[in-house]
Formats: sequence, structure tokens, C-alpha cells
Amino acid sequence: MIGEKVKELLGEVPESVTIVAAIKTRTVDEVNECIEAGIKNVGENYMQEAVLKNLAIGSKVKWHLIGPLQTHKAKAAAKIFDMIETIDCFHTAEVLNKHCRNIGKVMPVLLEINSAREEQKSGYMPEILPDELEKLAGLENIRVQGLMTMGPQTEDGEVLRPYFRNTKKLFDEIKKASISGIEMKYLSMGMTASYHEAIEEGANIVRIGSLIFGPRNYH
Ligand SMILES: *Cc1c(COP(=O)(O)O)cnc(C)c1O
Repeated sequence: MIGEKVKELLGEVPESVTIVAAIKTRTVDEVNECIEAGIKNVGENYMQEAVLKNLAIGSKVKWHLIGPLQTHKAKAAAKIFDMIETIDCFHTAEVLNKHCRNIGKVMPVLLEINSAREEQKSGYMPEILPDELEKLAGLENIRVQGLMTMGPQTEDGEVLRPYFRNTKKLFDEIKKASISGIEMKYLSMGMTASYHEAIEEGANIVRIGSLIFGPRNYH
């Protein structure tokens, strides 16, 4: 079942788009099944789960952090992840940078954009981001490679389209400004209910969970 879903998805999504399988709440066996079917990138939200699954599964896939990075977990995150998609403030970036420097690693990161401007949501407000970029570019052990956004909570991909479009616009503006040390290579947007719209609006990373694994049971 998981294998079939992955193969369908790989057949459908353009080759230029990276599928990150969102593996929160999924077992190691389930994750291995999706890897055997061709998934090359997995995304985890929770550090504790990530550490255990990473230990069992190892580096045959790339590991993305797609949930919030808490500074007291940045040391472990520096070790196990290949990309942090959720940098949302300078302080967190600085702490991550320090831990990456300690282990001699340069970590690719995406900046999370609060595209719906919701108070309770994480992510940079789109208008303050440009001022932060020079500071972020100065951190030598993280490398900004693009943007990530979630948008408002909804099952309707069309509702998300304008948020995706605005984030793509910001992505293009930053790219055009060509700031030394800042790359705009990856745009991560779209989940099970919205990946079609996200790809149409310019995403080249999509993060997909329930379509691959079925509905989530939180325990
Ligand atoms: C869970 C999650 C996803 C995947 O959600 P689905 O609707 O199951 O595809 C994508 N991105 C983030 C940040 C998530 O937490």
C-alpha cells in the first residue's frame, strides 16, 4: 500500500520536485517501506522520534527537520539532520550555527515564512525577512538555501494558493537581490491536500504524509 502510493506519487510529480515524506507518528517499518519504493528524503517534526528513527534507518535517506527547532535540541539536530526547513528567528539560527561549527558541519537551512501572518504561528513575517538576511548570511556553519511555508490550516488547496504565490514572490525577490551567502534554490510548500497547487505556484519541495501513509493516529 505505502509502496504503491509512493510509486504513484513519483510518477505524477515532476522530476524537478523533491518529495519529502512526512514521517511523524509513523513506524520505522512504515518509513523503510516508503524508502524501498523510492523516497530519498524524509521529514520529521519531533526530535525524540527523529533521533530514534535516524538510529534505526541511518543515512540511506536525507533527513529534513520540518517541525519547530527548539534551541535546547539544536545540538542533536545538528548531528542527525541534512536540512533544517524551519529556521524562524536569528537566535535559533545562531545556536544551530554554533553546534554545527562544533562538529565541523555546514547545515543547509530554509527560512520558514509565516505567509498567513498568524500571531500564533511560527515563521518570519514576510516583511521583516529581507532585513534579516545579511545577518543570517554571516553565520558560516549554516547555509540559507531557500524558503518554506505552511499557510493557514485547511484541507482546501485552492485556499492556500495565494499564500503559496506570495511566498514564491518573496523567494524571487530575494533571489533577484543576490545577497552574498544566501541562495534561493529550494521552495518547500504543499502537503497532501495542497501539493498540486503548491507545485503550480513554484514549489520544488513538497512534504507529504497522509497520502503516502494513510490517516495519522496521534498517540
Ligand atoms: C505533517 C506535516 C506535513 C504533511 O502533512 P500531510 O497532510 O499528512 O501530507 C507537511 N509539513 C509539515 C510541516 C507537517 O508537519
